[in-house]
Amino acid sequence: MVVSVELDFVDALRGTEIRVRVPGGRRCKACEGRGVAAGSEEQACPECGGSGRRQAVEGPMRIVATCPACGGTGTKAEPCPVCEGSGVEPGDREVTVRIPPGADTGDRLRVPGKGLPGRGRGPDGDLYVEVRVRPHRFFERDGLDLRLRLPVTLEEAYLGTKVEIPTPDGPVTLKIPPRSQPRRKLRLKEKGVRRGGKRGHLYVELDVRLPDREDPEVAEAIRVTTKGYSRPVREEITL
Ligand SMILES: [Zn+2]
Ligand SMILES: [Zn+2]
Repeated sequence: MVVSVELDFVDALRGTEIRVRVPGGRRCKACEGRGVAAGSEEQACPECGGSGRRQAVEGPMRIVATCPACGGTGTKAEPCPVCEGSGVEPGDREVTVRIPPGADTGDRLRVPGKGLPGRGRGPDGDLYVEVRVRPHRFFERDGLDLRLRLPVTLEEAYLGTKVEIPTPDGPVTLKIPPRSQPRRKLRLKEKGVRRGGKRGHLYVELDVRLPDREDPEVAEAIRVTTKGYSRPVREEITL
């Protein structure tokens, strides 16, 4: 039995416990899933007297056959009136599933004994929980690595600064080196996804934002920046 669940991005990172509704019926309470009416099994089959076999005499021959009344069981077993012998009654079950830290889209978690009710005395089947992780507004998962596009101002990119970044372990300080270009990737070592004994990295891509408000003073300051380029910016652009 497979059920699909959707997890919040952060819940999947940290691990969580969820309740899932499992369709497919429950083990019948009246007969404990055996499909047999209570007490009816203890009585011997009136046709064969409990032997499960029936003898017929045809002339000199004695033929031994399976008793048709009880199918060879030798008992008077009658189907459970609640589940009509199926051992299963309709209804959903609620199952608690522990999601380990670092769960990812495509994971299949096995929950032993929480699947479909077993037939008769048979054990219940296993439940498989298929995981889908909802996307985050800012963070992206790439296996064990996390990616974040971090907006920074022109001043921060040019002069360098320290920025506090949220990570699965709590906030850490990211050092942005001076004169960082747009789309520069900085790595926060082992601040990615923790899964089993493994640990991914957090890659921060700088999203340098230019001033967006019209301001004569800013315009004046920007004009000055032209002399800050070590070479013409389109020098290498050719066809
Ligand atoms: Zn019988
Ligand atoms: Zn039953």
